[in-house]
Amino acid sequence: MTPPSKKDIRSLSLDDLRQFFSENNDQAFRGNQVYQWLWQKGIHDFDGMTNLSKTTRLLLEEHFVINHIEIDLQQKSKDGTIKNAIKLHDNLVVESVLIPTPTRTTACVSSQVGCSLDCKFCATAQIKRMRNLNPDEIYDQVVVMDQQSQLYFNRPLSNIVFMGMGEPLMNYNNMIKAVDKITDPKGLGMSPSRITVSTSGIPKMIMKMADDQVRFGLAVSLHSARQELRQNIMPFAEKFPLEELSSALLYWYEKTSSPVTFEYVVWAGINDQEEDINALVDFCKSIPCKVNLIEYNPIGDDNFLQAKKERIQAYQTALEANRITVTVRRSRGKDIDAACGQLANKSENI
Ligand code: SAH
Repeated sequence: MTPPSKKDIRSLSLDDLRQFFSENNDQAFRGNQVYQWLWQKGIHDFDGMTNLSKTTRLLLEEHFVINHIEIDLQQKSKDGTIKNAIKLHDNLVVESVLIPTPTRTTACVSSQVGCSLDCKFCATAQIKRMRNLNPDEIYDQVVVMDQQSQLYFNRPLSNIVFMGMGEPLMNYNNMIKAVDKITDPKGLGMSPSRITVSTSGIPKMIMKMADDQVRFGLAVSLHSARQELRQNIMPFAEKFPLEELSSALLYWYEKTSSPVTFEYVVWAGINDQEEDINALVDFCKSIPCKVNLIEYNPIGDDNFLQAKKERIQAYQTALEANRITVTVRRSRGKDIDAACGQLANKSENI
């Protein structure tokens, strides 16, 4: 067991590390060396920091631990998608998914263990939120999948989506700190334009992101542009009415010039009627956006069934007729429960 007095060294900033060495009669630049080992080389034990003297390594060991994630289980889908069950230092598990296409490899990362929200069609929502992930636990998922991308597909990660477990805007500060490290040249140095944060739509937080001038893309899980229906399938949405969401998204666009992407699943007998289509078209007309019609991934609830192809086509036709960009997205990794909304640590129960 780790004595409580030992701090996770990864919670220290570069300045903190430099200060630690100065206070311990060593040179501040040792802090830069340690930072590099932790954040660029991904080392998990002090002995691996080979440019530090034995005395320095012992000093670090006396004061700190290095918390890190471990891949507990890796599953590969027929379509090349890789799902990782990631064990955290306290034995909780989250899932991260690596999705290859001919031109991209996308990492889908989790932001919480379980989820704060209650979407009825989502498997993750059935696990209550156990805790938020720390910035380094989010960052480490990206590092692990970047290594997998190199190993299996011979290229670095090209994109990151916060579409794994959890609601990123309910773990805002840690998500932002992780993104800072992912984009920092002293970390992974990825461009923020290759990152998309997906939210189920929390107006206040969308406005905060706009004020913070974040440079990543925004996706909103809309699923219905009719308030009553939306709060039926996403009960938390009662507290976040569509009018507020719409104003927050306009504010977002004013501040960032970045159009939002709406994620939208069409279910048979739920949101596949003309009035649903018209409501979506109206909603989209007032906000610079594009729409991603995503395939439903069954989670064993017969109330939710994928709509017929013609109904999805009807959505597509109506949106296009109103010059709203729309794409229809096929699911990836369904055979291993790695697709959107299927992340629920199922493999753990085997
Ligand atoms: N909480 C955030 C991040 C999760 S992203 C959000 O809601 O955006 C996961 C995406 O998959 C969301 O768009 C969600 O609405 C969608 N989703 C959830 N369950 C699904 C399912 N069973 N089939 C297809 N998509 C699903």
